[in-house]
Amino acid sequence: MEINNFKAYCDQFDRAATELGLDENLAALLKYPDRELSVELPLIREDGSLKVFRGYRIQHNDARGPCKGGLRFHPQVDIDEVRALSALMTFKTALVNIPFGGAKGGIHIDPTELTSRELEQLTRTFVRAISPIIGVHTDIPAPDMNTNAQIMAWIMDEYSQTHGYSPGIVTGKPISLGGSKGREEATGVGVSIALREAAKCRNIPLEGASVVIQGYGNVGSWAARTLHSYGCRIIAVSDASGGIFNPNGIDIPELQLHLKNSGSIHNSSLAEPIDNDSLLCLECDFLIPAALGGVIHKMNAECLNCKMVIEGANGPTTPTADEVLWRKNIPVIPDILANAGGVIVSYYEWVQNLQRHYWEEEEISTKMEKKLVDSFYEMSALAHSKKELSYRTAAFMISINRVASAVQMRGRTT
Ligand code: NAD
Repeated sequence: MEINNFKAYCDQFDRAATELGLDENLAALLKYPDRELSVELPLIREDGSLKVFRGYRIQHNDARGPCKGGLRFHPQVDIDEVRALSALMTFKTALVNIPFGGAKGGIHIDPTELTSRELEQLTRTFVRAISPIIGVHTDIPAPDMNTNAQIMAWIMDEYSQTHGYSPGIVTGKPISLGGSKGREEATGVGVSIALREAAKCRNIPLEGASVVIQGYGNVGSWAARTLHSYGCRIIAVSDASGGIFNPNGIDIPELQLHLKNSGSIHNSSLAEPIDNDSLLCLECDFLIPAALGGVIHKMNAECLNCKMVIEGANGPTTPTADEVLWRKNIPVIPDILANAGGVIVSYYEWVQNLQRHYWEEEEISTKMEKKLVDSFYEMSALAHSKKELSYRTAAFMISINRVASAVQMRGRTT
């Protein structure tokens, strides 16, 4: 990788802090995580052997509310990645103005190598290991790459065994355990709303607009389904093993059916295979990276052939690639805005858990859409107010200001 995730985030933060003229010491206080926990996780495998995994929970900042952020189970997880992702959560929750701080966690693991029972055991061990620092009013985990509602259910159960019934300890739970209607699809729907508003700003008609999506997991597949319902043409999608391409547009409901029946997006008559590198360079109106960080970098940014990038993933564009895209006049709608639909609905899930009172889906989706659209126009108004300001720097400026104000008003700088 061209640059590590934390350095990439620091570069983004520094640009905005410089633009704001932020005091050097305050900037340092806001830039780095408040607390980092690294844990060893022993697992007795079903064959009787012992395997030890490394896990992390990092709390970046809690000045505006309890820390909030997902858990990632992936072989690329390391402390720098979790640091960067925890910081992005602080500035994401501040940008969309929900009363949370930022955190992130994860385990360095390929979860496909474990049986379901082993995964459950490891998840429970992880909860016990990080339980000194998480809590309903201190730090609330959620799903991220390779974690899902079932894993959130195990987390809720493990934590509740020692703290009493605590649905508010985690979001992204199954609805039957206090999860929120609309949470599963919230991030992908939010990405689609961000794209829709960005299309209006650039006068690109949504009907027939061509879209390429990297990653067909939770975020990518819900973005595909929503954008398909808006009338967009999803011409290519991918997963870790490769992509599929159909210039006329993939029939997304049929692809969902194929995925459900075969367990894969590949090997159907709906589209032709395409490799993951070529997919990123396809000519299209919108490119949505919805998998890993750092995938648009200095080696491939020149080849991008889209009109806009909408960041479904966290940290998919490196700072060097950002500069290349700026020069090519390809605007980037940044992760902290584009994928914030998930954390907004997570916030509503937590509120419902605290109230023990549950809302209808329409109420949740209307509230989420308003928050996202308001935040979009706040960010774009600032970006358009100055010649050399990207959407990303504008988004960071708004959110850094909010966090700085909370830190100062709480007396943490005196
Ligand atoms: P997921 O595990 O459900 O799906 C990830 C997808 O990416 C899978 O289809 C996987 O096969 C694919 N993938 C992995 N490596 C790839 C590669 N090299 N090329 C192409 N595809 C690849 O994860 P998710 O929850 O959809 O998260 C995806 C991204 O969105 C992550 O960056 C995550 O941090 C971010 N995000 C997720 C949420 C959420 O609510 N789930 C919220 C905000 C941001």
